[in-house]
Amino acid sequence: MSAAQVVVIGAGPGGLAAAAALGARGVQALVVDRDSQVGSSWRRHYERLHLHTPRRWSGLPGYPIPRRFGRWVARADVVRYLEEYVEHHGILLRLGTAVTRIERASTAASHRNGATAGDSTASDSVTNARWLVHLDDGPPLAAEHVIVATGYNHTPVTPDWPGLDGFTGDLVLARDYRNGRPYAGRDVLVVGTGNTGTEIATDLAEHGATRVWLAVRTPPHIIRRDMLGWPAQGTGILVRRLPPRLVDRVAHGLAAVQEPDLSAYGMPRADPGLYSRVLVGRVPVQDVGIVDAIRTRRVEPVAAVESVDGAEVVLTDGTRLRPDAVLVAAGYRAGLEPLVGDLGVLDGRGLPVVHGAHEPPGAPGLWFTGFTNPISGMLRELRIDAERIAAAIAR
Ligand SMILES: Cc1cc2nc3c(=O)[nH]c(=O)nc-3n(C[C@H](O)[C@H](O)[C@H](O)COP(=O)(O)OP(=O)(O)OC[C@H]3O[C@@H](n4cnc5c(N)ncnc54)[C@H](O)[C@@H]3O)c2cc1C
Repeated sequence: MSAAQVVVIGAGPGGLAAAAALGARGVQALVVDRDSQVGSSWRRHYERLHLHTPRRWSGLPGYPIPRRFGRWVARADVVRYLEEYVEHHGILLRLGTAVTRIERASTAASHRNGATAGDSTASDSVTNARWLVHLDDGPPLAAEHVIVATGYNHTPVTPDWPGLDGFTGDLVLARDYRNGRPYAGRDVLVVGTGNTGTEIATDLAEHGATRVWLAVRTPPHIIRRDMLGWPAQGTGILVRRLPPRLVDRVAHGLAAVQEPDLSAYGMPRADPGLYSRVLVGRVPVQDVGIVDAIRTRRVEPVAAVESVDGAEVVLTDGTRLRPDAVLVAAGYRAGLEPLVGDLGVLDGRGLPVVHGAHEPPGAPGLWFTGFTNPISGMLRELRIDAERIAAAIAR
């Protein structure tokens, strides 16, 4: 068994930020990632993507995003930034290794002691080891602290529409979508009206898809990415600590100027409750082309999907569409159950009961970062949590 004082799981922005913040306090962490390169989620995202949060509010501890990447940083530059970040901080990495489970060292020791008297135990081999991090390619790592940074957007939600098994068109998850080129001249139904679904719909229209339908179950709040140079994220930062009902009321009052009215084009106005929806994981859509695409009818909002019947998709209003491809952008789950599901640290939604500088009750030395979707921007939150977790561990 090898040992590390701190093991960080995930070499995305959250895990790298935590490792860097620890390094700045003289604590070296080992960052383990299942992928062979850092920033794997950003390597896979669709090509059109840019940060929705401005560069200066999206940087991680100790090394801001360079000015040369511009105000709205492109996906490929986020990857470049993360590579530079690792080099700048000298972060210790173990890539190509998936963590399969986290176990209390004491539990492992008592099992081992019961099974084979005389075996050395986890806690013997590392002073203060509290956790065993099980790996898919070798013996576990013993660690005093484990920081879980495996990502809020870990496991895509897949649809379970009746008849889907018999669908004769292509079914593509947003995670596997790169650009609209393969869909030029084809009819595509996009399912999901979050930032990803709406931007993919826009991208398909820009790449010459013949028809792009956007299936709408719950009309989203669509806001401008910035107004008169003031980014939407700035408002999110200012209001994040106010009572959600108050923010909902103010946002509703401002909707006439802040949220374009697309009801004449088949996209009803969102119900009031912009901030309350953020708190259950539904962040507003930032307009990077969808408003224009809907107004010019290059993207057509339609009802939600009810079922599939061979080549046809049946909508809740009875309409039948015959798309060549259905693109599913139905959101993600954190997928933490295999890692920590038996430790009593997850809530009913499968999210950690605490995050940031708090350890779950009964699980000292276990930390979570990146499992909220704040109105103030997730990268900003990852930076703040990294500093707080590192300070708590260093103490
Ligand atoms: C399309 C999209 C756009 C976004 N745009 C913005 C934005 O503009 N501004 C903003 O602030 N936020 C944005 N976010 C939110 C957030 O900042 C990003 O998702 C960010 O990448 C989260 O970082 P993370 O480190 O928590 O997770 P991830 O980047 O997902 O990294 C998790 C890492 O964990 C690894 N991993 C997972 N499971 C295991 C395992 N069992 N063992 C080992 N390794 C594992 C993965 O390989 C991955 O490298 C966006 C999110 C998405 C999906």
